[in-house]
Amino acid sequence: MNQQEILELFQSSGALLNGHFKLTSGRHSDVYYEKFTLLKKPSICTQICEQMAFNFKDTQAVTVVGPTTGGIIIAYDVARYLGIEAIYAEPGENERIFKRGFSLEKGQKVVIVDDVLTTGKSVWEVIKLVESYEADIVGIGLMLDRSNGAVKFDYPFFALATVAANNWEPKDCPLCAKGMELTQRGSRKF
Ligand SMILES: [Zn+2]
Repeated sequence: MNQQEILELFQSSGALLNGHFKLTSGRHSDVYYEKFTLLKKPSICTQICEQMAFNFKDTQAVTVVGPTTGGIIIAYDVARYLGIEAIYAEPGENERIFKRGFSLEKGQKVVIVDDVLTTGKSVWEVIKLVESYEADIVGIGLMLDRSNGAVKFDYPFFALATVAANNWEPKDCPLCAKGMELTQRGSRKF
């Protein structure tokens, strides 16, 4: 699948919206992404996970790690396609931790997955956790890059699709200037 086909899956799920949105921050945006609108639809989500798994097929990874909560679903499904195991990085007091007896061996080949890249915070937290076990990060995969290319990692990294999302203070918003109706996030689909 190419990027356009991936984006069409996002759009068909209703997770990726174009319009004029008021974000929780109060800023206005021309794109809104509601991640659980995709994740609640396994028949669509799994097609994206399959493509992600395909991109990892030559890594020899034995474990997929994803951050809670959305990353659980993605890690599980990517691992299913690869025939390997999935574990989850959960919030601790100040950092991500493994619970439930999850652990990694030194040198163990690991891929990290998450759904959307915005600031990269959750992926950085997982990287730090995996590095603390001296495991070998052989790839990082994201479904969607919304960082406008601003976030990079020190490991092989891909995003299946990139979306340029603009946001502005209301006073600077060109959509307001055009008189376009402002919708609360997620309430309108094009
Ligand atoms: Zn506006």
